[in-house]
Amino acid sequence: MSVFDHKAYDNHEEVVFFHDAKSGLKAIIAVHNTNLGPALGGCRMWPYASSEEALTDVLRLSKGMSYKSAMANLKLGGGKSVIIGDPRKDKSDAMMLAMGEFVQRLGGKYITAEDSGIAVRDLQLMAKHSDFIAGTQAKFRYDGGEADGNPAPSTAYGVFVGLRASVRHALGSDLNGVKVAIQGLGHVGYRLAEHLHKEGAKLFVTDIYPDNLDRAVQELGATVVSPDEIFGLDVDVLAPCAMGAIINDNSLSILKARVVAGAANNQLAEERHGHMLKDKGILYAPDYVINAGGVIDIYHQKMDSNAQAMREHIEGIGDTLVEIYQRAEQQGLPTNLEANRMAEERFLNR
Ligand code: NAD
Repeated sequence: MSVFDHKAYDNHEEVVFFHDAKSGLKAIIAVHNTNLGPALGGCRMWPYASSEEALTDVLRLSKGMSYKSAMANLKLGGGKSVIIGDPRKDKSDAMMLAMGEFVQRLGGKYITAEDSGIAVRDLQLMAKHSDFIAGTQAKFRYDGGEADGNPAPSTAYGVFVGLRASVRHALGSDLNGVKVAIQGLGHVGYRLAEHLHKEGAKLFVTDIYPDNLDRAVQELGATVVSPDEIFGLDVDVLAPCAMGAIINDNSLSILKARVVAGAANNQLAEERHGHMLKDKGILYAPDYVINAGGVIDIYHQKMDSNAQAMREHIEGIGDTLVEIYQRAEQQGLPTNLEANRMAEERFLNR
């Protein structure tokens, strides 16, 4: 199939295929849109079953980054790269060095960073051959703490700020006594739980592994529920922090929460589920808006900015969400569609 006819092509500016016979690297870089600035997006290494599958993934992810960066007020476009292979079996230093050369060839139109299967050390290898690698070294944290290169604290803080703004908008209250169900207590979910606990929220948590659940009970007074129970709970907020497509026909039939606001990417199984949330009177915080703290972090590290500027930028997520909610109400649109429109206004007509 031609790239131009691909269902996920969506007017990408550039799609480049790269093969390095020596290291065995097979990679694709997709640059969706650079109207606002160079395209930033992570590099994912995954054992794709076919190059077709890899192409579909990189095109979808790259387009998503244009929307995320535009709504995070970053002077960045959208792009992404994928390496075809199993990161545990096929990865080698030579491959990462070759990937650096590949990124360099695009002359700065695309900046890469971490994603599934790619670690900081891999980026450091790429950076030996390229000036356009972000996330090789974190210098500061949004809260002044010691940076270890993990953007999850910034993502969690952004989700917290966004969740608080969403609760204020939907329920007219602060977080004290508000019941929040968190699906997934990983890097982002646990930190989100800590922020919410400090504000007096009552937590209901689930995960498929027990480690962090026990901690949440002891340290945050959380109530543990099974993964199946999390959607039907009688709570005010559902915070999806595990995986995508969890807002679907099944979960919507039992959802009681008034707000859905969490870190997971691609929460809506299909765009129509945004309409269904609106019809049920549930306020949805569009995922790529509320979870942009991580990309904001990477941007500030790359720009040699500082913790204070980064923190203020992340806190802007709350204002952006309120603007989306107000515009969505005026237009009678679901919030996911209004967010898409706002992002397109920002990056398409430049
Ligand atoms: P993580 O892997 O550290 O945590 C995810 C947690 O969800 C794990 O503890 C896992 O056991 C749990 N989980 C998986 N399936 C589950 C299920 N069916 N029910 C309950 N729990 C389940 O990942 P993370 O870094 O915390 O990211 C969480 C989500 O946020 C992901 O969707 C990720 O793509 C998205 N996100 C993360 C960042 C970031 O900075 N880490 C940025 C943007 C978006």
